[in-house]
Amino acid sequence: MSNSMLEARNIIESYDGDELRIMEVCGTHTHEIFRLGVRNILPSNIKLISGPGCPVCVTPVGFIDEALILALEKNVTTCTFGDLIRVPGSEQSLATARSKGAKVQIVYSALDALEYAEKHPDEEVCFLAVGFETTTPSACMAVTKAKKSGISNFSLLTANKTMTNAYRALVGSADAFIYPGHVNAITGTESCEKLVEEGIYGVIAGFTASELLTAIAVTITRLKEGKPFFENCYPRVVSREGSIPGKRMMSEIMEACDSEWRGLGVIPESGLRLREEYAEFDARKKFELPSIEGRSNPACRCGDVLQGKCTPEQCKVFGKLCTPQHPIGACMVSNEGACSAYYQYQYLPSDS
Ligand code: SF4
Repeated sequence: MSNSMLEARNIIESYDGDELRIMEVCGTHTHEIFRLGVRNILPSNIKLISGPGCPVCVTPVGFIDEALILALEKNVTTCTFGDLIRVPGSEQSLATARSKGAKVQIVYSALDALEYAEKHPDEEVCFLAVGFETTTPSACMAVTKAKKSGISNFSLLTANKTMTNAYRALVGSADAFIYPGHVNAITGTESCEKLVEEGIYGVIAGFTASELLTAIAVTITRLKEGKPFFENCYPRVVSREGSIPGKRMMSEIMEACDSEWRGLGVIPESGLRLREEYAEFDARKKFELPSIEGRSNPACRCGDVLQGKCTPEQCKVFGKLCTPQHPIGACMVSNEGACSAYYQYQYLPSDS
């Protein structure tokens, strides 16, 4: 262990002040924190809360229902990331729809979906565009390419989200945030600096043991000082300006819109939709989708988990009726979900 890691660990382990609630927003951070055993060294007065940074988890049930209409009623080949296919909609998942004959393809990116559309000109192909500023540029790139190449059988069903207003919606949930380094690699640091003026504090963290321990230690130190703060603890990747080409790509193709987040409701200006110039690639318009209000399983507490109001273990069906093999909610489906992380790293069946 390096000296800086030892120093960070010492700061964390020796903390003996008032209880601190620190929210790690990013699902990858949640899993790394578990995998690296960081929770095992936390004193009881430091609570790490998992936040809404898993793209699949925050995508609302109604979006799955829209995708099901495309797949089952509009005969559209629906291309999606592997974990989204298992997220329950109001009645069923895309995986169930596929077993009934719907064309549902698993892809790794929007560009894969575009390639599929190019090779299958007789099919209408829609990519389910979920995720944050990290994945949105590639969806935008696919639309740009489709337009340039005259590929007209391709569209996006958008549920893209942006993080800044989600932090505002979560005010009071935590004393400070650990911001997702890969999002800030695109957006830069300016939005986090502005949040400080609104009383919202946090640090940007990377993903190694050293980077995570450092970020937590810095957060504790700065909270102890009691002054407003923001710190970039991931400077090897995150610059102040972020990715200028990525930001340009997003602002050329998409515009801000209000967006529904699972558990958090509609957050103003927290989503992205295609600009009017690209309406021909907007699946909602192209296939005249009705507006849908999804219904999640009443037993599922994903909404509370995503806001840090409860831990996964406090959900009555955690590890019993809801497991990664038979997920009831999105947080148990995705590799980045908090329920999945708790199950994978902590949960032991009572009869084990
Ligand atoms: Fe939802 Fe399952 Fe998590 Fe409970 S354990 S909150 S049902 S995903």
